[in-house]
Amino acid sequence: ICTPVPHPESIQHIERSRKYEPLSMRGMPPIVWDRAEDIFVFDKYGNRWLDWSSGVLVTNCGHGVPEVRQAIIDQVNSGLIHNYVFPSEERPELCELIASVSPDPLKKVFLLSTGSEATECAIKLSRAHGISVGGREKIGIIGFDRGYHGRTLASQQAGGMSGQKTWIVNMDPAIINVPFPDGYWEGDSSFDGFLQAVEKSGMKPSQIAGVIMESYQGVGPDFAPVEYIEKLRAWCTEHEVVLTFDEVQSGFGRTGKFWAFEHYGVVPDLICCGKGISSSLPLAAVIGRPDIMDQFPPGSMTSTHSGNPVCCAAALANIRKLLDEDLTGNAARMGTVLLAGCLAIQAKHPEVIGNVTGAGLVAGLQTVKRGTKQPDHDLAHRVIELCYQKGLLFFAPVGAWGQTVKICPPLTIPQEALEEGLAVLAEAFDEAVAELG
Ligand code: PMP
Repeated sequence: ICTPVPHPESIQHIERSRKYEPLSMRGMPPIVWDRAEDIFVFDKYGNRWLDWSSGVLVTNCGHGVPEVRQAIIDQVNSGLIHNYVFPSEERPELCELIASVSPDPLKKVFLLSTGSEATECAIKLSRAHGISVGGREKIGIIGFDRGYHGRTLASQQAGGMSGQKTWIVNMDPAIINVPFPDGYWEGDSSFDGFLQAVEKSGMKPSQIAGVIMESYQGVGPDFAPVEYIEKLRAWCTEHEVVLTFDEVQSGFGRTGKFWAFEHYGVVPDLICCGKGISSSLPLAAVIGRPDIMDQFPPGSMTSTHSGNPVCCAAALANIRKLLDEDLTGNAARMGTVLLAGCLAIQAKHPEVIGNVTGAGLVAGLQTVKRGTKQPDHDLAHRVIELCYQKGLLFFAPVGAWGQTVKICPPLTIPQEALEEGLAVLAEAFDEAVAELG
């Protein structure tokens, strides 16, 4: 289906983008999307790709969902494209729907535009709560090594990508990172590791306001052991620390449960979500305990596009489709096929695929230099490049060292397309391993 080299005209678009957009916008592969439909994206030149990126985990219900498009059109045609202070019908309707799919006591919903804003807001809410129960000193925030919560100042500090923090001049001393207990890169995945790291930081539990954690760590996906999370939940309750699960990536069915924290059987105090909430337009939310959510007076937390009516209409249509068609169930069923396929690829190349992880329709193959535990970016990169030439699309390698081929198709994917993609991926691994040795 795909031409192996980018079309000359698409190269012109890429050159224009390179001229006018900063280096930080540069990714791979060099294609220019023209249209999209469900699990496929197309360029103008007759090429079609099976999208295994979900547009960076956004299009949970697929690209260009007809119901979402119609909802957007209807809202736009009403003329009410922007609204902020006065709730229009869609906003409370959406909040009610989100509350209905969230566990007790998480029943208040605050709408924002991006995941970064949501995590930033959760940090502020945690601190406000900490101060109210423990005084001015209770403002510490704990995030995890290799975590990601967005690119605003505090969200970036709470995230554990050390390379991305070099420009932060005045690091907030009350935001610390502790090891993420993934069981592969970190030797120790016991809760003692958490307690030791907190002790080492010099902060006492009485000085800690919040813990923020991705329900699965996006760089993997990596999951913490259930026992660890149970102990973390108990520790947070004991010390009146607000526990936030960042579900920006993992929410809305991705892992085969509506919220990924359901795998652990615990309930956080706050949830942050975004991306798959609308499968399209920029919308995010913080969902939480009313006593924590209601701490700020009217008008003091909103931003101009909070709960924009067009975004709300899109999200309503999107979540209804997700629920009506049980796409979370499809993610769970297809997830077993996906994981088995990835493990079969690893079995063929055990020396260079160190770790395979996944749940539902997100999985990662983590590459290593032959026979070691050293991450291998070049191999992951080459595999992705070869896939792109064969009509299977990923975003650039992820992971703290760019070593992971991450798979996250729309949750609508049927088994046949999943198996086709796995066959292409297996072939790409064979070729890349033969090439790179
Ligand atoms: N948290 C997580 C877990 C994410 O994956 C992301 C985005 N990749 C964010 C927060 C930030 O979301 P946004 O890019 O919408 O600001």
